Amino acid sequence: MADMKRIAIIGAGISGLSAAYQLEKARAAGADIAYTVIESSGRVGGSISSEQVEGCVVEAGPDSFLTEKPWAASLCQELGLADQIIGSNDARRKTYIVVHGKLIAMPDGLMFMVPTKLVPTALSPLFSWSTKLRMARELMHPPRPMHGDETVGELVERHFGPEVVDRLADPLLSGVYGGDANKLSARAVLPRFVEMEEKYGSLSRAMLAAHKRMAAAPKTQPPRPLFSSLKNGMQQMVDSLAARLPPDAIQLRTPVRGVYSHNGGWRIAGEMASDSYYDAVVLATPANVAGALLESVDAGLAQDLLGVTYSSSVTVALGYYMDQLRDLPPGFGFLVPRSEGTRMLACTFVHNKFSYRAPADKGLLRCFLGGARDEAVQSLSDDELLATVRGELNKIINLSANPIFARIYRWRGAMAQYESGHLARVERIEKRVADIQHLAIAGNAFHGIGVPDCIRSGQHAADKILGSFTAARS
Ligand SMILES: Cc1cc2nc3c(=O)[nH]c(=O)nc-3n(C[C@H](O)[C@H](O)[C@H](O)COP(=O)(O)OP(=O)(O)OC[C@H]3O[C@@H](n4cnc5c(N)ncnc54)[C@H](O)[C@@H]3O)c2cc1C
Repeated sequence: MADMKRIAIIGAGISGLSAAYQLEKARAAGADIAYTVIESSGRVGGSISSEQVEGCVVEAGPDSFLTEKPWAASLCQELGLADQIIGSNDARRKTYIVVHGKLIAMPDGLMFMVPTKLVPTALSPLFSWSTKLRMARELMHPPRPMHGDETVGELVERHFGPEVVDRLADPLLSGVYGGDANKLSARAVLPRFVEMEEKYGSLSRAMLAAHKRMAAAPKTQPPRPLFSSLKNGMQQMVDSLAARLPPDAIQLRTPVRGVYSHNGGWRIAGEMASDSYYDAVVLATPANVAGALLESVDAGLAQDLLGVTYSSSVTVALGYYMDQLRDLPPGFGFLVPRSEGTRMLACTFVHNKFSYRAPADKGLLRCFLGGARDEAVQSLSDDELLATVRGELNKIINLSANPIFARIYRWRGAMAQYESGHLARVERIEKRVADIQHLAIAGNAFHGIGVPDCIRSGQHAADKILGSFTAARS
């Protein structure tokens, strides 16, 4: 018992909870450890939160995870949620871009902004003729090594011109990062594009080659859906994780104010009755919070963590009766380029994207606002936000009906921005953390902002701590 190691996990978002569950499995397998998850807010889950409203499943934060990243689905399977996983209705997948106030469907064969089918791209009204010519010329681009880093905007513009940055790259990245294509790092956000450019030159030729390889590979399974989620919402994952931890393992409403080295271990100060002492710490807060907490431990590390910028966003969910949505076009929703001058960045037709989201007589729209270029949206009142969203929906899809319900969720500083130089920053951070005994760091600021990446980062952080005890013993 005397040798039992105590571990603090700071932050009960999906990263912190995944770290805790990894420790719980080690404890159940005999590791002599105890752990506490210390969370500032009154709930677990961080950005993940789902509500049931009028029979609809309303996602406040993430609505799904990318199926191709395996860590979320395998965690769900371990948690006994395999039969709860649902896939996006890809047969109905169609996404529109708003151009001059009108919805234009993304042409067939567009693979994350890279055209791979000539005819649909050539016929699409989404691009001007000069952009189409650039796309044709892009097929001739010779291989080109990227020196240093550049922004996604620079890379995409070099290949396809500014219209593709405005109409595709920027809106697509706003949806994922709440980010600005002209700031996000190509190496960190689109590493495959950088590799393809180095090998093939033309991104279209590289995508076509990848497509051919995939088509030629033997098909062992039916194609997997692009996105996965859970029948009752993403919160199901969080609730199941929390339920696997001992009831006293989570301390809510306890903001941590500082982390200090103390006799080979750690002292944690915050809004708890008295300072607490631990043998190891996992920091699973946003990176800028982790930076502030570690100021006295390693000023250089703290500076790098504080240097990760975060964007804020607002999601607005609106429920309707289906007969109010008679004129809604089919598909998953639309993206709005900045040049359109609206505040709304995207709108998902939730009931089309996933089953189990609304009863048959209801439909659910979810609008996304804010991002790196519109922090000011946070200061709008609920009434102003609602009026903005409803006015813009009216203009874009001619929807003026009164929704049955509306829910507004504000996410301040929740989405890490992988700006130019991000990978070098993460390498520096990880080197410094590796040199500090019994400290690990997890979250969406390092190797992916998505839920599966966060799960993996939490698991790795827990493994690092467990490994550090084993190394110290041997
Ligand atoms: C609106 C929105 C939509 C998204 N959509 C998707 C999507 O569809 N698919 C996808 O894969 N990803 C999506 N993401 C990204 C993904 O949800 C997040 O990156 C991920 O959930 C972050 O998890 P985390 O645990 O690292 O951080 P967080 O969820 O931010 O958790 C950090 C926790 O630390 C706590 N904390 C902070 N400071 C302290 C302190 N001083 N002391 C104690 N606790 C503290 C916070 O209260 C919080 O609970 C979305 C994000 C947002 C905001």
